[in-house]
Amino acid sequence: MRMASGVLREAIVDVDAIAENVRHLRRLTASEVIAVVKADGYGHGAHRAAVAALRGGAARIGVSDIDEALALRRQGIRAPLFAWLHAPGVSFAEAVHHDIELGISDLDQLLRAGAAAGDRPAAVHLKIETGLSRNGIAPADWRQVFSEAARLERIGRVRVVGLFSHLSNTSPDDDRAALARFEEGVVIAASAGVNPPLRHIAATNAAIALPEARLGCVRIGIGLYGVSPFDDRSAADLGLRPAMTLRGAVAAVRRVPAGTGVSYGYDYRTARDTTLALIPLGYADGVPRQASGRGPVSIDGRRFTVAGRIAMDQFVVDVGDHPVAVGDEAVLFGDPTLGVPSAREWADAADTIDYEIVTRVGARVPRREGGA
Ligand SMILES: *Cc1c(COP(=O)(O)O)cnc(C)c1O
Repeated sequence: MRMASGVLREAIVDVDAIAENVRHLRRLTASEVIAVVKADGYGHGAHRAAVAALRGGAARIGVSDIDEALALRRQGIRAPLFAWLHAPGVSFAEAVHHDIELGISDLDQLLRAGAAAGDRPAAVHLKIETGLSRNGIAPADWRQVFSEAARLERIGRVRVVGLFSHLSNTSPDDDRAALARFEEGVVIAASAGVNPPLRHIAATNAAIALPEARLGCVRIGIGLYGVSPFDDRSAADLGLRPAMTLRGAVAAVRRVPAGTGVSYGYDYRTARDTTLALIPLGYADGVPRQASGRGPVSIDGRRFTVAGRIAMDQFVVDVGDHPVAVGDEAVLFGDPTLGVPSAREWADAADTIDYEIVTRVGARVPRREGGA
């Protein structure tokens, strides 16, 4: 296939896949979905991911930072928005003014939320620590923070929308132990007078693999984008469709003799007379340099491997005697059921996870909505 002329590199985002993945996970979990579009929608574009997820029936949108939530509001997202990782000493006034729900991990944040209430209470989800050792209200502080939340709720400064936590995905037993601690927290909160409508602890992994963690509300990130959180199950195994295809136009081809060194350091030398094709994506575009000599590329339905080092803007593949021409489409990853490499293959080549492969696609790569 040929790329449109003038296009060097692009990430095609299949928004219908995102909507369909949400529908599928809603059905599978019989739970409402908080669609997580932090980090620019895991590289897919936060706004388009949010719009697609809402079209697929997501009930609310989750992000890490308040600034991400405010940007979505400015872009017209009217659905409930939820942000949970806050700068030290932050004022929540703007967030509350724009109806951003706040994840609250300690008493200081709770008091700041109460102080930010204006003509309406600050909507909060209280995050409780259940074993991940990140943020979240420590068990020793549960009673005090829950009592204060109940008091602030009574005087109209705060509205507690949810209680939540996050799992380590270490093993089903570890996650069940965390879930049991969460249930203890829910009981203690209720005894302090905090009875929010939502409880949520499962991200994509537990939403699929640990039915007792669904609790009627799940926070789905990676699953939205059609990427599997499991080592041993592909997206297709889970009924999910990858949303991103990363591709570039072959920017140059040259015929070279045996023994030709390729790219910095000559880590690769041609074994025989061959053709080299230049692919205009590099580590500035999120292609991991770590995958030098290993990453897969599909050109015209054939699989090739990165030859030598991945540079900032480009890398080379040795295509042998295959007739590759300038302007041919080179797919780094997409939907593997269509015969192209998967983000997982790049993750394996770079010794990382496919979450990182899609999320790190650089700002220089234009995103375009389209089908697979
Ligand atoms: C990122 C994140 C999620 C989404 O996780 P996935 O594994 O991508 O589904 C859910 N909850 C919290 C708190 C997160 O930080």
